[in-house]
Formats: sequence, structure tokens, C-alpha cells
Amino acid sequence: MNFFLPKQVVRAIDALEAAGYAAYAVGGCVRDQVLGIMPHDYDVCTAASPEEMQRVFENQRTIETGLKHGTLTVLMGGMPLEITTFRQDGDYLDGRHPETVRFTRRVEDDLSRRDFTINAMAYSPTRGLCDPFGGREDCAAGIIRCVGVAEKRLEEDALRILRALRFSARLGFPIEEHTARAIHEGKAGLLRISTERISSELNGLLLGGHAGEVLAEYPDVLGTVLPLRLLTGHEVDWPCSLRRIDYAAPDLAIRWAALLLDAGLETAGVLRALKMPVKLTENVSHLVRECRALDRDVPMQEMLMRLGPDQLRQCLLLRQADRVVRQPDQKETIEADTREKLREAEMLIQGNACCTLGQLAVNGRDMAALGLKGKAIGQTLNALLLAVVRSEIPNEKEALMKRAASMQA
Ligand code: ATP
Ligand code: MG
Repeated sequence: MNFFLPKQVVRAIDALEAAGYAAYAVGGCVRDQVLGIMPHDYDVCTAASPEEMQRVFENQRTIETGLKHGTLTVLMGGMPLEITTFRQDGDYLDGRHPETVRFTRRVEDDLSRRDFTINAMAYSPTRGLCDPFGGREDCAAGIIRCVGVAEKRLEEDALRILRALRFSARLGFPIEEHTARAIHEGKAGLLRISTERISSELNGLLLGGHAGEVLAEYPDVLGTVLPLRLLTGHEVDWPCSLRRIDYAAPDLAIRWAALLLDAGLETAGVLRALKMPVKLTENVSHLVRECRALDRDVPMQEMLMRLGPDQLRQCLLLRQADRVVRQPDQKETIEADTREKLREAEMLIQGNACCTLGQLAVNGRDMAALGLKGKAIGQTLNALLLAVVRSEIPNEKEALMKRAASMQA
């Protein structure tokens, strides 16, 4: 197998080895290379203790944030690299965190605490691939399988349930039978996991190319982590919502909107309960609300006013997913129609079409000159903007002043 490691990673491994400590690239970056995917970052693990690591890298800039857990961040030629001492986790008593962290000199011990076989491989240019749990084989077969006894591993840390779903959704790998059974049986463990950790895994899951497919197999897990009580009284067509996810563009706001489209106004509450960022929450609820306006053929320029350029593009893609899933036999027509609509939107955006009060050819002073005061000024300007985006009047000062005057009369 041909592994590529960036030179900064090789230099860090070489420095540790030169000081007598075994060192490997580990986890996601090894998995991705075995799968022929470009890794997005590299983690290193080593037999050196944190103090020993600090000595090896005393001439490098280091960040000590994770030192207690054995992690030192070393800036190698400007690239921040996380280097972690081989660890063996102690007993998990709370289903979230190990009681103790024990450092070890054996890489196999470190790999044995990792979640899935495909994530439990280490590689070093001199030592080669260390793969005690059959990670390479499971990569080749395309299987997500717990390291060790699945029930026990998922009980130790229930977040691994969502991690399994996330990797399955991203890689399109089914989850091995025992692990799958343990997921269904152990899902209640997720109730002990912090909302932030759950949300971050859910986001990763939703962005996967097979997210809907995976969630359709684990509706019980979805039911455990989504605050469904907020949706009582809503006719949510879950099978349809899940199919919508896989068709929708891999953009977090679009994917959440695809999942929660039937939840209507409750969408914001669901995302707030999951402690999602305010910006994402607002973005998703706008998309959910405005998607239906597109059904009503509201003029494109008015949609641009309501959503702004970025959200308008997202909304057109969301609606496309919604329509295709409802009428799969019309897929081609719907996609052609969406392309046409995106082009129309792009013309308006690039052409600087008026869609904000700031672009209107009149302003507050002009309204004051007509004798308008206070609130009436804003209200009139908004009404003028609406008339412009609906193409009732041109965005020209004379026409706008005339309309403003007539509105007063
Ligand atoms: P990604 O490409 O999404 O970053 P990754 O495999 O690097 O995938 P991380 O969450 O960055 O995933 O974790 C790095 C590695 O740490 C994993 O590959 C795995 O070996 C180990 N790991 C992470 N979280 C857990 C966990 N909850 N239980 C056991 N091992 C874990
Ligand atoms: Mg990672």
C-alpha cells in the first residue's frame, strides 16, 4: 500500500523515532488513505509521554491544551499537528468519559480503545501499517464494525452510536450485524450524551451522501436524539423527509431544512433544543418557511428580497429536492425547471436587481420631503420596495415619488 504523508507529519514522526519513541499517523487519515480518499487532517500517536514529547519538540512552538489527556499540538512548519501519547482508557462508569486515562507504550493498546476497525489503524513510513483489528479488510469490504464487543463499546460511550451512523452515511458502508443490533439496543445511552456532542455528530451525519438511507434504517436512533415532542400535531412524512435529504445538495442548512420541511414553524424550536448556532437556525427556518412561497409562484425578485442571494439559491435547491421526491417520474422536468429558475435568480443577483431598501431610488429624506413622519416613512419605503420587486413600478425616483404621494392620498 502506498501511503502519502505530508512532510511535516514525516518530520514529526522522524523526530520522535530519533529520540527512541515509536510514532505513527493514526485514525481518520490512515482510513481515508486506505480508502483512496484525501485526508483532511493528520493525527499522530506516539509512545512518548507528554513530558517526553515536550522535550523532543522543545525547539518547536507547541500548544498544551490537551496535555492532561496526552495531546500536544506542535506547529510543524506552520501546520498544527496533534500528537497524542498512546492511551488506554480506564473504565467508563458514566457512559461518556473514561474514569482514568492510562498512558501505554504499546500502539496496539491505543488502537484497541478506538471506536471502529476502520478507524483503528496506524501507519509509519518505517514501521508500516499496524492493523490488529482487520481495519483494512473492513475498508475493502465496506463495513462499519466496532473494535471489540459492540455492546460494551457502545455502552462505554454512546456517542459512538451516532459516529457509526455518521461514517455509514459518509462512506456508504453498511453497519455490521452485531454492531447494528447493539446500536438499536443501546440507543437510550444517547440520552446521557451532551447536546453539543450529539449535534455535532448529527451535522456530520446529515452531510453524508447516504444520510437519508442510513436514518431510514435507524429511525429509533433519530427518534432518540431529535426532540420529537416539539413536532406533535405535525404530519411529518418521515420516509419522504429522509429521501429528500439524500437528494438535497450537501449543504448543512439545506439538509436540515429537507429533514424538517414538514415541521413548519417548529423547525426553529427543534434546532434551538439541539443548541445549534443561531445563524444556522435562522437560515433553516427561513428556508422552510419560504420554500412554500416558491410553490405559490411568488415573483423571483420578491423571493430575492425575502431571502437574499445565498438563501434564495439554497431555497431553490431545497424545493427541487422536495418536488423530485414527491414526483420521481418528473425528475428531468423538475431539474430543468430548477436550472431555469437558478439562472433567472442569478441574472437578478448579478444584474444588481433592486431587492433591499438601500437599492431603492428614493430614501427616507425623500419621504420626509413629501411630509411623511416617523413610522410612516419606513412603511412607505417597504411598500415601494414590494411594488418594485413585483414589477408594478420601475425603480426610478419620479415613479416612486408619484406612487408614494398617491399612497398618502
Ligand atoms: P473525520 O474524517 O470525520 O475527522 P476521524 O476518524 O478523524 O474522521 P475524529 O472524530 O476526528 O474522526 O476522531 C479521530 C480518531 O479518534 C478516530 O478515527 C478514532 O480512532 C478515534 N475516536 C474518536 N472519537 C472516538 C470515540 N468516541 N470512541 C473511540 N474512538 C474515537
Ligand atoms: Mg479527524
